[in-house]
Amino acid sequence: MGRPQETDGEAEGLFGVAELVAASAPAGAREGRAFRDGPEAARLLRVAEIHAEPGAAASWRGRQIIARFPGARLVETGSHWRIPHLHGNEGNVEHWVRVKRETLVLGERSSLTVRPNGRSADWIAPGLSNGCAMACAYCYVPRRKGFANPITVFTNVERVLAAIGRHVAATGPKKEPNQCDERAWVYDVGENGDCAVDDLISDNTADLVHAFRRWPTAKASFATKFVNPDLLRLAPRGRTRIRFSLMPPDDSRLLDIRTSPVPARLEAAGDFLDAGYEVHFNLSPVVVRPGWRNAWGELLRMMDDVLPRRVKEQAAAEIIMLTHNEDLHGVNLGWHPRAEDVLWQPALQQPKRSQNGALNVRYRTPVKHEAVEALTGMIAERTPWLRVRYAF
Ligand code: SF4
Repeated sequence: MGRPQETDGEAEGLFGVAELVAASAPAGAREGRAFRDGPEAARLLRVAEIHAEPGAAASWRGRQIIARFPGARLVETGSHWRIPHLHGNEGNVEHWVRVKRETLVLGERSSLTVRPNGRSADWIAPGLSNGCAMACAYCYVPRRKGFANPITVFTNVERVLAAIGRHVAATGPKKEPNQCDERAWVYDVGENGDCAVDDLISDNTADLVHAFRRWPTAKASFATKFVNPDLLRLAPRGRTRIRFSLMPPDDSRLLDIRTSPVPARLEAAGDFLDAGYEVHFNLSPVVVRPGWRNAWGELLRMMDDVLPRRVKEQAAAEIIMLTHNEDLHGVNLGWHPRAEDVLWQPALQQPKRSQNGALNVRYRTPVKHEAVEALTGMIAERTPWLRVRYAF
């Protein structure tokens, strides 16, 4: 991957979101050949149909996106939440992948609530997308819309950023360090999608990264399984934490459908650090299956071998044990039963009713404790530089 370009250096006010968004380059008009315009990006996204709420289509961001995909058919929709022939679990994986690759939804985000978290981040910010072009077999994002959910891009960017900015201002400086961060309040900006993939479509992720540059008491954070070199151009100046999700390559090939290979995520870490990101890792999900300890031991060895010293010096990790879901189990049996051989392990798992009433399963307490202990023990031995922020 190439070195980042110097993109700016001008002084910016603290909370002026409107001029920030207005100053962004039009989507697709990046200097030089952007990754988003190349063949690798097209393998993931080749937009042929855009379903848009009228307000979203008329918005500045909406018009940018529609102009970026001139060959796409525009279909008006009343609500980005209800497009029955797009969402849901009907059909098969080829159908879902086609929908994810060829369809976009444009909508306006109505909920602007910032929610407390305290684990991965201090706060969950209202995101600028929902849905994903990738198709990980364990993903919780489709639980509300169904597996065939393509990316919904929210176009009311100024409103969303203004809401986050108000929260940042009202919260003030962080007075006590915690595991999320020593000094800054951390806002997860990618709860329901992957911001690196969203950047293939529009400048929403760029706007988020640039907004957090203005907020010295706050830091953006998002997890990703996709290496998008265009993000290297955004000059986050240390105010965005990118968390590359990692699992043993064999598990990833089975479970992380349509994502960048794990070695590519590791190889990208140094470039992202040099570009001004803080680089952390999500060791997730940890799937307990025969041989899992050896596989994770090998992954840790790979991390120790591949990652440059400067990445190690600032790295930290989250460990997240697999949570699965009964409905998703049923869906996966229809298209990817081999994934369920490792994801669905009733002898090791117990039910857990989620806040929205869904029946999830997670590892039984002793299984989980033993696994976390084994993994943290391996980390202490093989990657002692890797601080574990929390295990969940
Ligand atoms: S990359 Fe993340 S959001 Fe996308 S399918 Fe995988 S787990 Fe879900």
